[in-house]
Amino acid sequence: MVYSEVVGNYKRISDKIENARIKAGRTDKIRLMAVTKTVDVQKINFAISQGIDLVGENRVQELLSKYDEMDKTAEIHLIGTLQTNKVKYICDKVSMIQSVDSIKLATEINKRCEKISKVMDVLLEVNIGREESKGGFSPEQLNSAIGELLSLPNIRLRGLMTIPPFGEGEKYFPEMYKLYVDNSVKKVDNRSNDNFKWDTLSMGMSDDFEEAIQNGANIVRIGSALFGKRIY
Ligand SMILES: *Cc1c(COP(=O)(O)O)cnc(C)c1O
Repeated sequence: MVYSEVVGNYKRISDKIENARIKAGRTDKIRLMAVTKTVDVQKINFAISQGIDLVGENRVQELLSKYDEMDKTAEIHLIGTLQTNKVKYICDKVSMIQSVDSIKLATEINKRCEKISKVMDVLLEVNIGREESKGGFSPEQLNSAIGELLSLPNIRLRGLMTIPPFGEGEKYFPEMYKLYVDNSVKKVDNRSNDNFKWDTLSMGMSDDFEEAIQNGANIVRIGSALFGKRIY
C-alpha cells in the first residue's frame, strides 16, 4: 500500500528542516523523528521504507502491540510517560528513552538494563513551562539530578527533551538551549564520564519545529504533519 500523503509530507518536512538548518547557520545533523502514536504498523513501515530511520512511541502498551511487525531498520525511542513497573518490557526494544522525568525512573532503567548488559541512552525531560500537569525536572533541579545520575553505569546521559506549554514553543526554546549548554560537558568536572555523552536536544513538534531548529534542536519529533491528524 502506498500512502501518497506521507510521501508528500515527508518531502515537505525534510525540505523545511534543511532550510531551517541553513537559516540557522548550522552544519550539524538534525534528525527527524516520526511520532507514531495512533498510527498503524503498515503506515509506520511505509514511512520507514521512504527513509524514516527514527520512530518515537509514547505508550509502552502501544509499542508492544506494534513491535513484532515493525520494520526493525528504524531506531525506536520512547517519548512518553513511563511508569517504573513497565520499564522491564522495553529495555531490549528501544535505543533511547527520552522521557526520563525522575531519579526513581532512571534508577529502574539502570537496574533493568544491567540485567541485560545494556547501557541505555536517555534524555532528561524538562518541565520548562513549570506546568503542574506535566512531569519532568524543573530547570533548577537539573544540575543536581545529573550529578546523581552519573553514578548509574547502565544509563548514558545524552541530553534534554521538552514538551513546552501548548502553542508556546517559541517562547521557551531559547531557555531550553541555554539549559542544554549550561549543563553540558566541561562545565562540571566529572562530566567526562563514559556515561555522560551530552549531544542531544530533542524539541519541536509539527507546529514549531523550525523555531526549535533555530534554537539548537537536533531531534525534532513530528507526528501529525507527517501522518495526518490523529484519530483517537
Ligand atoms: C505526539 C507527540 C509529538 C508529536 O506531536 P505532533 O504535534 O503531532 O507533531 C511529539 N512529542 C511528543 C512527546 C508527543 O507526545
